[in-house]
This record gives sequence, structure tokens and C-alpha cells, in this order.
Amino acid sequence: MTNHLLLCFSLITLQLHAVDFRVGAARVDITPKDGTPLGGYYKFRGSAGVLDPLYAKTIVMEKDGTHAVIVVLDLSGTVRAGVEAARKAIQEQCGIEGDHVMISGTHTHTGPQQPRGSMMDDITKVNSPAGVSYIGSLPGLIAESVKQAKAKLAPVKTSIAIGKAEGLSFNRRILREGQQEAIWQPRTLTPQDRPAGPVDPDVGVLLFQGAGTDATPVASLLNFAMHPTSVGSGPKISADYPGVFTKLVSERHGTDMISVFANGCCGNINHTDYVTGKRRTTLELGTALADAVDAAWPDLKSVDTFKPRIRSEQVTLTRKKFTEGQIAKAKDMAASMLTRNFGTVPMAETVCILETVAKQDVPLVAEVQVIAISDDVAIVALPGEIFVELGLAIKKASPFKHTLIAELANGSIGYVPNREAFPQGNYEVVSARGEAGSGEKLVEVALKLLKDAKTTK
Ligand SMILES: [Zn+2]
Repeated sequence: MTNHLLLCFSLITLQLHAVDFRVGAARVDITPKDGTPLGGYYKFRGSAGVLDPLYAKTIVMEKDGTHAVIVVLDLSGTVRAGVEAARKAIQEQCGIEGDHVMISGTHTHTGPQQPRGSMMDDITKVNSPAGVSYIGSLPGLIAESVKQAKAKLAPVKTSIAIGKAEGLSFNRRILREGQQEAIWQPRTLTPQDRPAGPVDPDVGVLLFQGAGTDATPVASLLNFAMHPTSVGSGPKISADYPGVFTKLVSERHGTDMISVFANGCCGNINHTDYVTGKRRTTLELGTALADAVDAAWPDLKSVDTFKPRIRSEQVTLTRKKFTEGQIAKAKDMAASMLTRNFGTVPMAETVCILETVAKQDVPLVAEVQVIAISDDVAIVALPGEIFVELGLAIKKASPFKHTLIAELANGSIGYVPNREAFPQGNYEVVSARGEAGSGEKLVEVALKLLKDAKTTK
């Protein structure tokens, strides 16, 4: 009888254990050595010194043997070849299917560049020995972070809150009365000027705490939409405001907690207040966001997690078209662009035109991915610098109560403006690879995947 009871008890325990939602998190230092080509601007910068370290931060989630992995890199973004190499390494070393892995970049402008297969590679010298050596090391470092996170898998309690950071981020495209073209990052404004679009003040906080009575915070996924460009275009390495933000959240809420920041749809969102000209420092930005998390902390609501549902689709978009005249002009400028600075917007346009011409027979493919972990919580990955309007459209129409979005995820097709922005031109539009409507297509696919993840196990 006793044996029988014991057996029953063990079976029940086993069964309970098998249905636990488990999470493990880890971070691995990915700070490059001096001399590594940096990204973020249309010029070569070899890194010289480190203000603060860069990390690959990973959250592994698991239930019933199904894993979902979120990796965020303190890099200017992700490139498809790098994502594929990292997924392969993760599959081989950790036994987790590559398509269950979401990898995004914070978009820090003071981190290493990755090769994009465009003239940017020549400008940034990313294919120099220092660049190649760094890029070659990344898949192994990312897989290592996943391996460490997976080894720490333990039952968790999950909760979510959406905080607000009002007045911190600004739409960097401005419309002036009587002028069709948007002004990009103006230094001064007239009283009639107005932002061309909104911002997204939401600060998403997804928290995983140990299931024990002490409920020790294990990991947090933080989400906000704003360009990390506060450090400047010097040669020193920095994770920018996401570095300060995540460090403060861990210091304040759990020193052993891995805080991971996924940047939202911030293609047209910066930290400069264009009305007053005020630019907050990296420390001020990170602190304001950590304060927003503090304010949201009491609102954290428990989430009933289920086995991760992962959906993804490869979307083929149409490349923009250019006239013979535009192509000739671009070739002309390109001839002296490695030695002369023509300014960001003309250089961005030239790089885009030449890449489009070179790749006219190569499909422009974008992976849209969704990870849902409960009836209330889903995370969407989009591969580019997505305009805030598109992110807001996904959040609004999503069947999930809380939808977090990671941009520059699983690769990048560059800027993705909303349709309305195209006739207004300027930086993001001239550098976009996809034609008008590409962003709306990504939104449509994201919503389809979200709906599927909501309704089908
Ligand atoms: Zn950007």
C-alpha cells in the first residue's frame, strides 16, 4: 500500500513537473577588441576603448519539451547570414530548432557593424580582418549564451505590465506647412511644424520569477521603441541607453536577473525633443525608462503560460524601382563616396540604389515571427527598422492583450516606412529597400500569425 501510494505520488510529481513552464536566462560578453569596425553611421570607425560592455542576452522558455528562445544582441541590428549561422550553432549545440529562436539587435550605434552586402561594407570596412574575425565569433558566442540559459531552466511564475514613458521619445520626421517633403531631424522648428507621426510610449515588462516562495526574479524582457543614438558617433563602444536601462532594472529588482531589452518599432523615433532641441544623455534616458518600469511594477499581472507557440513566415517583398537617371547619378556619386562625405541622406540613397540594381534578381525576403506564451502575451519579430505606425497597428489589432515587438530581428531589410511616409520622402524613405506597402504587408502577416497562434495549439 505504502509503495503504491509512493508510486502515485511520484507520478503526480512527475506530471506536475512536466507541465511546468520553465525559463532560464544568461548573458555572454560580445564586446569586440579595439580596431573592430563599428556600425551606425555612413563612415568608417575602428573601435577604440569601451564605455560599457556589449552582451548577447538570452531567455530560453520551455514547456512540455517545446523551447522558444529570445536572444537580443547589443549590436546595430542583425543580418540574415549571421542569424542563420547562429540558429545552426544553437541547433547543433543546444538541440533547439533554429526556427524556435528569435534574434534581434538593440540598434546601438556604438557597436560593431555586420556585413550587409552593400556599399556600406566598403564604407565601414566591415570585411577587414578585424571585422571578419569579430563576425566569425558571434554565432559561437550566441550559442554559448543559449547553452548557459538552457542549463538554468527552472519553473517560473510569469507576469506582465505595460508602463509608460511619456515625453521621452520623439517622431524625427516633421511636416512643415506648404511643403510636401518631411524634414528629418530638424535643428529648429517653426510654430506651424508638426510631427509627421506618433510615438509609442509603452514600456513592456515581461517578468519571469522563480516558482518558489521567494519568487526571485530570473529574467525580464523589456520593450520600448526609440533609436539608441545618445552616445554619439565616436569610436568608443557602448550599449547606449539599453545598457543603462537593463542594468538599472536588474539592480533595482533582482541582482541575479537577466534584463533583456528588445527595441520596438522605432524606425522614425529618436530621443531628441525637436521643439526644445533638448537631447537627454544616455544615463538620463536609461534612468527614465527604469523609472517607468518601477512605476509599472505594482501593476504586474500574473500570466497563465502555455507551451510556446511559434509561428513564422517568409514574406517576399517587391524592391523599389529607379530610373536610369537616378542610377547614373548614384554611380557617379559612388565613385568618390569612399573618400568624400556627401551627407547621410544622399549617401543612404546611393547605397540603396546600387544595392537594388545589384540585387534586382534576388528576392527581398523578410521573416515575420511570432512567439506566444499565453492567451494574453505574444512577441512579434520584424526584420528591419520599422516605422512606429506599423508597430502600433500590430499592437492595436493583435488578438493578444499584450503584444511586444522586437525590430531588427532575424535579419534586416533596412528601413520600413509606412505607406503614408513614401510621398513625404527623406532619409528613411530614400534608404528603404522595399516599395511602398511593404510595411503594411508585414503587418498583415504578423496579424495572421498572431491570430493563428491565438487559436491553434
Ligand atoms: Zn536606425
